[in-house]
This record gives sequence, structure tokens and C-alpha cells, in this order.
Amino acid sequence: MSAIDDTHDAGRRSWVESAKHPGCDFPIQNLPLGVFVPPGETRARVGVAIGDSILDASAWVPGETLNGYCALPPVQRRDLRRVLVKVLEAGAPARPLFAQSECAMRLPAAVGDYTDFYASIHHATNVGKLFRPDNPLLPNYKHVPIAYHGRASSLVVSGTPVARPSGQLAEGKFGPTRELDYEMEVGLFVGPGNALGDPIPVARARDHIAGLCLVNDWSARDIQRWEYQPLGPFLAKNFATSVSPWLVTGEALAPFWTAAPAHDVPTLPYLQEPEPGAPDITVEVWLRSPVMSAPVRVSRAPFREMYWTPGQMVAHHTSNGCPLAPGDLIASGTVSGPDKENRGCLLELTAKGADPVRLPSGEARTFLEDGDEVTLTGYCERPGFARIGFGSCAGAIRPSR
Ligand code: MN
Repeated sequence: MSAIDDTHDAGRRSWVESAKHPGCDFPIQNLPLGVFVPPGETRARVGVAIGDSILDASAWVPGETLNGYCALPPVQRRDLRRVLVKVLEAGAPARPLFAQSECAMRLPAAVGDYTDFYASIHHATNVGKLFRPDNPLLPNYKHVPIAYHGRASSLVVSGTPVARPSGQLAEGKFGPTRELDYEMEVGLFVGPGNALGDPIPVARARDHIAGLCLVNDWSARDIQRWEYQPLGPFLAKNFATSVSPWLVTGEALAPFWTAAPAHDVPTLPYLQEPEPGAPDITVEVWLRSPVMSAPVRVSRAPFREMYWTPGQMVAHHTSNGCPLAPGDLIASGTVSGPDKENRGCLLELTAKGADPVRLPSGEARTFLEDGDEVTLTGYCERPGFARIGFGSCAGAIRPSR
């Protein structure tokens, strides 16, 4: 695992002016990696976000994806962080930068496999209540991390428009979904990974988390309701999943790991993490309808409240010998907390449409309408440490094709 070291010193400053602003997502203590295409070019390369800019990092991380970076052993990921700190800290010679606003971003990795968990007990309970008021939480929930295999081919980078999908909505009914929803999630990019048949022990799981990002698991609730039994989500989810462009490294997150909530049933030994395993990330959802000039925040939730941690997800996923490869994406499931303002999707927030969200424009929403734009943001804050941001994960709804 990565420890707190001098690269996390809050007093450290960059020569990049915009990285010094207190509310900045990308101070020198963060240094997230991404894949960008500079203006006027077509070839993608690896860069590091600093303030409102990007430093070309292709000299240290070659290639057009971060898969090679993810495959590095943790000690080499730490060494790279040290190099980037040296290059960007005040006193080092200034280098050419690209403005983030002028660059096109790509997905951070070529994702071979994508898995989505269901790790928020608050989300599972709230959704369960809507469908089974007497028995909201299924009996397996506190014992086994629940997940399904998603679809890597429809992962898109933040900013990509999302077309309203059509599908079977009920018996005899095919057409555009009427219940289009977002799910606010945190994703993890798999590090070195494991060979077939070779489980990753929970004590080593954090070495296999190269970094985290934000994920919007767009969901069509009417399609989902009709198709999900007995095998789980299929076409209700795999039409598009948005991913934020910056991989916030496990090393940058070192100061923000906290103890996960206590379990009131015994956790099997293969899932018992030796160290605090819950990253303290606040995640937010912002919504803007076509008539609104600025987005409004509709929810905010603490990721540290998740019942299962990223390390437990990795250990569980590989416990049967299933191989994970560098750059695979594992999402957490909808991040919800105990309070109403913590609900990470519209299904929960509006209680299945019974209690619409009121927007400052005077409009109301039960589910998303064409032209609506959803933006996820995330950040870590702890007294004595620099704020670490995740950037954003945005997508606007286009009419069905
Ligand atoms: Mn999901």
C-alpha cells in the first residue's frame, strides 16, 4: 500500500500558477494521469493534470493508454510520482503546457473488462424498500459483495453525448426509455492484476488498485424492471457508461483512507482488510436542463460509507481465480448515504417518481429528459492536506435515434 510521504506536504507549491488556487482539483499533491489529444493533432498521449493545464508525460509513460502504467508494480508508480513532483514543483524550469480546455480527452485505459458492484448498503436498502417494503435488504447483502459483469465496449469518456436508448419496456412494448436515470459511482482501474486461478489476497488488494475515477452508470429503469430477473441488468445498462478522464492515483489518495463502517455480521476472513480501506471521497451530482444557464447540485454523498471497500471488491472478484488485467475497470455501484440528500440516482431521490426533484428553473424531474446534462464531481479533503479533486464526469442526453 502507499504511505503518506513528503509528496503529500500541503506546503509544496508548483510553478504552475493555476495549481496554487485553494479550490483547485489538481494541485501538485494530486498529479492524476490521463490520455489527451493536443489541439490540431490526432495522436493521443499520456499527460498529467496540473491546475487548469496538462503536462505532456509521454517521456515517462509512453503509449496511447494508461494500461502500461497500471501494470507497473506499486514501487514504480511511486517513483513516477516523485519524478513528476520534481518536474512540476516551484523552482524547476517551466515547461510547455497544454490548456485542458483546448485538448480532447480519451478514456484513460483500453478497458478489457468492466464490472459493476452494488456496494452501498444505503442504496441497496433504499432501492429495496421501493420494491419490497417489508424486506428491503436481501439476506445475502451483508455477507457477499454483489456485482454483475458490465460491458466494456460502451464505456465513453466524459463529455460524450448519450443517446436515449430504446428497448422492451414491458410486454408488447418497444420504444425509447421513459425512465432514463444516472448512477453516481466511483471506479477503480486495476493495477498489475492476477493470473487465472490465482486469487489476490485482501491484504495485497490495494497494490492492485492503480487509481480511482468517477463513473456514471446510465440506467433505463423501465427496461431494467422488465429484463432483470433472473440474470440481472443487461440492455438497461450497457448502452453507455461515462468515465471521468483523470486517473487519480492510489499514491495521491494515501492521506484519505479511513475505516469502513463496522459490519454487524461476521466478515469472512478472505474479505477482512488489515488496514483502513475506505477512501474518504465526497461525490456530487449536478444537473442542468436545457433552459438552465448553470447546473444545480442534486446530491452529495460520502464514499467512505460504502459497505464494501475497493480492496474487498478486488479480493472478492478474484477469490475464485477470475483474472483481472491492468486497466480493467471496477465500479462501486451507486454511492448513496444515510440522508435524502445523499441519494445517488433519480430512482432513489424521487422514490420511483413519487417525489420529483424541483429545479431552480421551475421545472421538475422524475427521470432525465432530452437535453439534460448530468455532471459528477468528486474530491477529498482533510485538515492539514491539500484538497485532491477528480475533475468531472459529464454527459448530455440526446433524443433517441
Ligand atoms: Mn451501477
